[in-house]
Amino acid sequence: MSKSVSLRYKVLIILLITVMTVCSVVVSLLLYQAAQQERQLNQALLSRDVTRYHQISSLLSERLTVWVESLKFVNETSIDTQSELVGALQRSADFLSLQWDVNNVWVVNGQQEVIYRQGEILPDAIRPMVSDTLRETRPVYGLHCRNLCMQVSSIPILTHSQTASVVVMSTSVQELLALLSETTQAELAMVKEIPNALSQQNRYVLNSILTEPQEQFMSEVLRAIPAGANKQKLLTAGVEVNVSNNAYLVTFVPLYSDLPNGYYLLFVHDIDARKHAYRTQNATIFLGGFGLVTAFLLSMFLLLRRYAYKLSVLSNMLPLLAQQRFSEFKAAQENSFTRNSWLSDELDTLGETAIELAQRLETLDQQATANTAKLEKMAMFDSLTGLPNRSMMMFQIHKQLAAMQRQQSGMALLFIDLDNFKKVNDSHGHHFGDEVVKLASVRLSGVIRENDNIARFGGDEFVVIVTDLDHEEQVSAVAEKLISQFVEPMHIGEHTFYISISIGIAYTENAKSSTLELMRHADTAMYEAKLSHGSAYCFFRASMNQKIINQVELEAAARVALQKQQFFLVLQPQIELATQRLTGFEALLRWRHPERGMVPPGDFLPLLENSAMMPEIDFWVLEHAIGLLAKLNERGYKGIKMAINLSAAQFANSALKPYLTQLIEQYQVRPKDIELELTETVLVADIERAIDVIHEVRALGCSIAVDDFGTGYSSLSYLRMIPSDVIKIDRSFIAGMLENDSDRNIVQSTISMVHNMAFEVVSEGIEQAEQMAELVAMGCRFGQGYFISKPIDEDQLYTVIDARVHDGYWQIE
Ligand code: C2E
Ligand code: CA
Ligand code: CA
Repeated sequence: MSKSVSLRYKVLIILLITVMTVCSVVVSLLLYQAAQQERQLNQALLSRDVTRYHQISSLLSERLTVWVESLKFVNETSIDTQSELVGALQRSADFLSLQWDVNNVWVVNGQQEVIYRQGEILPDAIRPMVSDTLRETRPVYGLHCRNLCMQVSSIPILTHSQTASVVVMSTSVQELLALLSETTQAELAMVKEIPNALSQQNRYVLNSILTEPQEQFMSEVLRAIPAGANKQKLLTAGVEVNVSNNAYLVTFVPLYSDLPNGYYLLFVHDIDARKHAYRTQNATIFLGGFGLVTAFLLSMFLLLRRYAYKLSVLSNMLPLLAQQRFSEFKAAQENSFTRNSWLSDELDTLGETAIELAQRLETLDQQATANTAKLEKMAMFDSLTGLPNRSMMMFQIHKQLAAMQRQQSGMALLFIDLDNFKKVNDSHGHHFGDEVVKLASVRLSGVIRENDNIARFGGDEFVVIVTDLDHEEQVSAVAEKLISQFVEPMHIGEHTFYISISIGIAYTENAKSSTLELMRHADTAMYEAKLSHGSAYCFFRASMNQKIINQVELEAAARVALQKQQFFLVLQPQIELATQRLTGFEALLRWRHPERGMVPPGDFLPLLENSAMMPEIDFWVLEHAIGLLAKLNERGYKGIKMAINLSAAQFANSALKPYLTQLIEQYQVRPKDIELELTETVLVADIERAIDVIHEVRALGCSIAVDDFGTGYSSLSYLRMIPSDVIKIDRSFIAGMLENDSDRNIVQSTISMVHNMAFEVVSEGIEQAEQMAELVAMGCRFGQGYFISKPIDEDQLYTVIDARVHDGYWQIE
């Protein structure tokens, strides 16, 4: 509300100032014009006074001239001589005095001698006029003041005797004044200026014969002339004075004379009526201006009040909108916003727009709320599987731990990871991987009790919480059930393949366990389970923590081993069993650890399987083995193979083919002398990708051997799909074949079946002559084992083979 009020005041103040300024300018202009008009009126009065004065004074003087001129003709006896002129003047003396107030008459002859005088002696001041008249023979008029002023007319006259004379007459100014007063309607008086007067009041003195009241009035007028008003002002513009509450205009008109003589005619005009009118006019202008301002402001106020009201309504409503208080906005709108159709303006449009906006905003707000709910759900659930996600699960674990305190039971956290999922993803793409995760989530969820929880933890990881447990063994059953869900292969599109899971389990009966600790324990146990190469579960044990630390140390040590050349290869000969012809060597990795001594590959390779070190070691072995092959060729051992073990990671590595190509080029070896051994687990994890890689490798000319045959999922139908060259029967079957019928059967059937498929068979781990003989009998062509030779250090390779190989045949000691 405060906003609208201040706005209203602001607008009003601005308007007030504007209107006041405009009005005061207009009023002052009008007033100025009126004052100007007043001055002009005064000026007009003054100039009229001057004109009248001159008219009347010359009229009076000329009247005398005409009379003197007429003397010559009007008189029945013509005037021939000066004495006759004098006589005529004497006769007319009474007439002149009575009729025209002539009080002195002089007649002056050509020699400027006064030959006739009636009245005073001719004052010397008049003599220059007389000489002017004689010289120019024309009338000269003037004024002569002594105590009082008189008008002097000096008129030339020629008598018949042709002598020039001058008739000089003086008249009182009373008649002049009377006539002027009558024509100008002004009070008149003669005024004499005292040049060195001490004060303004004594500066001008009256110099006329006046009646008592006249004199009193005139004196008052003179006194009323303000001290600042100078003579010039009185002469040119007049001065307004106030006497007895009456306004008068006072003007001075100099009495005509060639020289300034200090005598003036004082005109006093009564301008009271005019002044009154002037004041009334001014008041009217002023009041008019004021009225205009008031009327304007009033109308503005009335007009603005409507806008201000609307604005205040809007300014009250819009903040509600900003604060999303829609219901209050609606109430405010209904209460105060009514549209008047014929008076509607932009503010109404604004108001309506605000209402529209409110509706839109409200809809948007509702949508946003719905979306937020959706987002919250998304934040709690995994979008791919619809299972709770990590944060939801963390919350659940927390909740279950709290519940455990009351129930005094145990709970378990099962950390589930799909085996070899990375490979599936890498070879078939993420979309395919997603399908696998989805199918896995369905399989896992299928066996979970209603009270238990399952969540997707990200990637191929799931977590199951099992509660209300009395002891740890109950969890084993759950884990087994989960693992069994993955015995059946998965079918996605045209693809069929096996996926297994590994499970790490953290079990606790302690309600004070922390969520994060449980998670860590389950994760550690999972890692342990992974060592079993799939389909295994493992409970967390405190000792595992130590192992984890060892793992980290191991990786660091392996890096050092590569740098410091602690790795080397041993080579185990492979022979044709029946003839003992040397066919090749299998390269096996060894680590000469500075402290721990010789570390067998089984002790570190499985642990490094998923680490970043594994590909580096793999490539080192590949290069080193091919390098040895090249050296053997150089020494004359041609046509023998180098069998190299490949890890799962290396097999999935897309750099394998280019690297292999480069090595063959670099060491100038025959591709067909290189055999790559793959374990079954590598093949089974992602059969299609495996087949692709096998094709690539074989296209280079290298051969492929399936290692440890019979230990994994291997089925013969499965084997049919793999385009390998060699099958290596696992040494566990060889070890048992002489005592154990089933092992013997497996060996026998494998050999015949593999031969049917046109592959070669290599028997591993031949430790006894009987085993070798039996295998030869069974039709197995190739073999290796301690009986033939233990793996030979690369350093001693040439010494050993030079001693034991004769004409390409291996001597069994
Ligand atoms: P494998 O490929 O099956 O290698 C044969 C293993 O059997 C070797 O053990 C070898 O020393 C041993 N052996 C050979 N003949 C006999 C015998 O008559 N009796 C007995 N009991 N054992 C025999 P090793 O060298 O400890 O290798 C173990 C496994 O480590 C290998 O099994 C192989 O899977 C892996 N491995 C070894 N070297 C490498 C390598 O360079 N790269 C990769 N990726 N894996 C390797
Ligand atoms: Ca091998
Ligand atoms: Ca093997």
